[in-house]
Amino acid sequence: MEHTVEWIPVARMVDGSELAFTIHTFRGGEGPVVGMSAAIHGDETIGPEALRRLGALLEQPDRELRGTVRMIPVANPLAYEANTRNTPADHVNLNRVFPGDPDGWLTEQLAAKIAQHFLTGLDAYVDLHAGGAYPVVDYVYLTSTPPLSRAFGSRLLYRPKEPYPGTTATVADERGIPTVTVELGGGLYQEEEYARRNLDGLLNVLRSVGVLAEQPRPAPEQILMHDMAILRPHHGGILVPEVRVSDLAREVPGGTVLGRIYSPYTFELLETITAPFERSLLVLLRDNLAPIQPGAYMYMLGDASTAEILPAEAQ
Ligand SMILES: [Zn+2]
Repeated sequence: MEHTVEWIPVARMVDGSELAFTIHTFRGGEGPVVGMSAAIHGDETIGPEALRRLGALLEQPDRELRGTVRMIPVANPLAYEANTRNTPADHVNLNRVFPGDPDGWLTEQLAAKIAQHFLTGLDAYVDLHAGGAYPVVDYVYLTSTPPLSRAFGSRLLYRPKEPYPGTTATVADERGIPTVTVELGGGLYQEEEYARRNLDGLLNVLRSVGVLAEQPRPAPEQILMHDMAILRPHHGGILVPEVRVSDLAREVPGGTVLGRIYSPYTFELLETITAPFERSLLVLLRDNLAPIQPGAYMYMLGDASTAEILPAEAQ
């Protein structure tokens, strides 16, 4: 197995530094080429650590690699440095501008380099996301290739009615690359557990495409959601949570209080946030006493009544 790290230059910054990102290539024997990326949103910081751990495992001398793994651990270095979702230099969301524009905004130039150097020649692609600086999340998109999405092993899966335009996943899909988008972890909640779960899911995807020789672990019983609500506050203030990180992927009855927003100035209750569906699955939440901006990601809930149960795969 051969491991190389390539720096891809993007642009010279105003402070004289060079914006560049790395692509790791772990090249083993004949077999599929699997791409993995993380930190397309810079505040989703668990993915780079999961890829670092995977890289260390792939380098173990007794590990047989039947194919190639290519990784971009930090797809948006400027946003990662600033711990922000969007690129600070132009405020653009990298995951809405793929396949990019070599003559566009800085973020579009970055996307164009990623699309050119990475989103090509892949036989499978996994993109790691998380909840961001405050929220924590737990689900996997099921789009082009259900068995690959199931192999990651998360309890909740989501099939959106329309793909998000401008994402790496949409471009990969258009290029015929089977794609899995993971949303797992976030905030600074149980980082060790979420790093391990991300790593565990990636390993099982590699087994299921045959890059790792071991038999893949069969998918457990999973819930495939078709309808999701994103709750964003209408008022900023202190969010006092009523559901905890341990409640993720659980079902709560409609009307369950998820959190309350209070004014830190007048102490009045500004907003009470409740579960919208008669049977609501907790997909994303915040579990800290922290200020929240109006319009920020606060809760995501799946509708359990329109969801399908996918039975566990045979052993
Ligand atoms: Zn993201």
